[in-house]
Amino acid sequence: MDKSIFILGGTAWINLLNTTYISNKQKIDILADSSKTLQWLEANDLLRDSDALALENKELLDSLIKELQSFRNFSKIIMSDLEQHGKLTPNTTNELIKLVEQVKVNLTIVPNHDKLVLAPVGTTTEDHVLFNIIDSIIHTLENTSVNRIRKCEHPECILYYVDTSKSGRRRWCSMELCGNRKKVAEFYARKKKKL
Ligand SMILES: [Zn+2]
Repeated sequence: MDKSIFILGGTAWINLLNTTYISNKQKIDILADSSKTLQWLEANDLLRDSDALALENKELLDSLIKELQSFRNFSKIIMSDLEQHGKLTPNTTNELIKLVEQVKVNLTIVPNHDKLVLAPVGTTTEDHVLFNIIDSIIHTLENTSVNRIRKCEHPECILYYVDTSKSGRRRWCSMELCGNRKKVAEFYARKKKKL
């Protein structure tokens, strides 16, 4: 399995949305596999060392996976709001506010190069992961124009991404996964026509 799929959306909540995808016409769910879920969390930089240790407890990991599944559904609602209205509906905004109010964070100071940065950290692993996903939603809404949040153009692909390219003309979730196979298909379609 190609691990780049864990982060190709460009931000945590879209990467969460992308934890279901189609491969060889089959629907794959990363969250259905706890070890893959751990790899996904690591790849998205959502775990502190203490969280990685805490998640060795199976019950805790299972409960986090349930949270991620329901948060994935919520991310779908956000995406569909953006697709249909270009912004969040009042209902979704209220839901987001409710979710934020349940997440408990403390403040800490982390050294970053020569500077000190004030940073929120989750009280528990679950809080920490959810806080960072919510943070990614707010960051996207604040900094990304909606037309740069897109679904891959390949008809059999359901992955989303933020187009951070300079030209803003990215068409595929990734060249390796979809761009090339689409080009190959087009090439053969043209060839067939000529025959
Ligand atoms: Zn794709």
